[in-house]
Amino acid sequence: MKRREFLKIAGVGGAASAVTAPAVATTWRAPMTSFETTLTLIGGPTVLIQIGGFRLLTDPTFDAPGSYQRAAVTRVKTTGPAVTPEKLGPIDAVLLSHDHHIDNLDLSGRAFLPHAGRVFTTPVGAERLGQTVQGLAPWDSARLDADGRSLHVTATPARHGPPGIEDAMGEVAGFLLGLEAPGDAIYVTGDTVWYEGVAEVAKRFQPRLVILFAGAAKPRGPSFCATMDNNDAIETANAFPHSRIVGIHNEGWTHITESQADLAQGFAMLGLVSRLQLLEPGQPVRLTL
Ligand SMILES: [Zn+2]
Repeated sequence: MKRREFLKIAGVGGAASAVTAPAVATTWRAPMTSFETTLTLIGGPTVLIQIGGFRLLTDPTFDAPGSYQRAAVTRVKTTGPAVTPEKLGPIDAVLLSHDHHIDNLDLSGRAFLPHAGRVFTTPVGAERLGQTVQGLAPWDSARLDADGRSLHVTATPARHGPPGIEDAMGEVAGFLLGLEAPGDAIYVTGDTVWYEGVAEVAKRFQPRLVILFAGAAKPRGPSFCATMDNNDAIETANAFPHSRIVGIHNEGWTHITESQADLAQGFAMLGLVSRLQLLEPGQPVRLTL
């Protein structure tokens, strides 16, 4: 990405971007209060996040194992969801990192979208999906309100592979969730590698939990990673030194090349494993952040 484009998405310089750009966080302050959250891995990139009385779902995928053919590309799903949409309960908002890849929004996931209270995704994805889907550009925020409670949802930049891949892989969003202030609770990276956009998130926000889209996805053969490999996950963990880390999207598809166990092994070798929270499909994990 050219520097000017990056500064634009980073909200640095330029009158238009200054409107939505939050202040840059320069020093870490220990939180005065703690947050409770419960995470339930449904499979692949799909996690139920319960926080602040809200129920959110990342990239909905509920299809049974099978293969998908699009043009010359075949994608093979190897595991089904741990929780079906019927058993999921109400969802206040879906955080859809992108709508155009079958492993992030499969057929059942797409059918589920009208049942969610709100759906947030990229601006171009919102145009494609229509209905009431809301597009958020990087650093744009929205708010969920219910019974006097609020949750801030802020979109973050993402790059779905190495520099220059943007047109081929399309736009992706990550999301920050904030309870007392935007971005103070959870960062969901979406399908991205470690790059300057993720580093910028770390400069601006201090989420207590980072949910990485790991797995070192290699959708075009061995040529490059389209999501974080262990090196990227460790870079990200170091960029958010006070955050707990969860890795998802690291099983269930044949183009995923690094597992949650691989992530744990890498974190252990570098003394980071105490910050890593493993998830088992269908098993809710309650965390105090
Ligand atoms: Zn993708």
